Amino acid sequence: MSMNSFWRSKFAWSNSRHNQWAECKKQYYFNNIKKYDGLPNDPGRELLWRLSELQKMPFLKGRLIHEAVKHQISNHNAGRGVDADIAKNFFLSQFDSTVKDMNLVITEAANGFPPGEKEINDIRKDGIKQIENFCNIIWNNYKGVRCLGHEKNEEFFLDGIKVRIKYDLLTEKDGMHVITDWKTGSSGFDDVDENIQIGTYFTWLNKTNGISAGMIKGEVVYLKSCDTEIAEKTDADIKKIEEFIKKDSAEMLSVRSEEDFPASPEPKRCIGCNFLSVCKEGKEVISSLKSQ
Ligand code: SF4
Repeated sequence: MSMNSFWRSKFAWSNSRHNQWAECKKQYYFNNIKKYDGLPNDPGRELLWRLSELQKMPFLKGRLIHEAVKHQISNHNAGRGVDADIAKNFFLSQFDSTVKDMNLVITEAANGFPPGEKEINDIRKDGIKQIENFCNIIWNNYKGVRCLGHEKNEEFFLDGIKVRIKYDLLTEKDGMHVITDWKTGSSGFDDVDENIQIGTYFTWLNKTNGISAGMIKGEVVYLKSCDTEIAEKTDADIKKIEEFIKKDSAEMLSVRSEEDFPASPEPKRCIGCNFLSVCKEGKEVISSLKSQ
């Protein structure tokens, strides 16, 4: 079947797009191409847009922790203190109101696998703990540095290909730039190849801000354990990342028809897929699971 070409005009490589492409091409197709088929009020198109707004459970937790942290850093930058109670209350009220409507907003619930009460309580506790760790322990490490930006979307071009990044914190001290990513779990929202993600940060700082590789550090901070991993890269590493992004984009852009997007059904993946209700292969995998 032929497909629309509008998506090409909107194409931008990003780490999350790369992950979708690597996981299941059919999911990638629904999310990035099929959604732009037909006219805006076409019922099929509206359904895909609605489905693409569902949130996976780990994503919801990660997003709310990131938002709570973002507000606290903004408060700090405005001269007010970081307040763990405000951050925790924000998380709790948002989390509880989202979970109340879970069949409409949570992917797993909409797919017929609602999280149980114990799971919800565990996630709630985990979220609170991570916010406490950030406010009471982790944030102390950033008091003597200059904040250049936080929770920001940026874009740049590599040989005409648009590349999008989103970083959590960028700080500087004595010319050394540290670009930081808060990690809130080990799957879902955080299910990324850290090396590629961090490498893209280096490429952005180097390309658009002219900062040499030796004056950049990438940092991954696990809010659950307070562990930090530091990544350093050379100019040659940055070149490699650029080549990778160009090659990955060329592959994504070489598709011609719907057949170029095979499904990769797998129970865990399909239960957390926003498009399960419109995917034949996914539904087959789930119904064989239920009949076992
Ligand atoms: S339901 Fe499964 S096979 Fe279908 S698009 Fe989603 S992840 Fe891919």
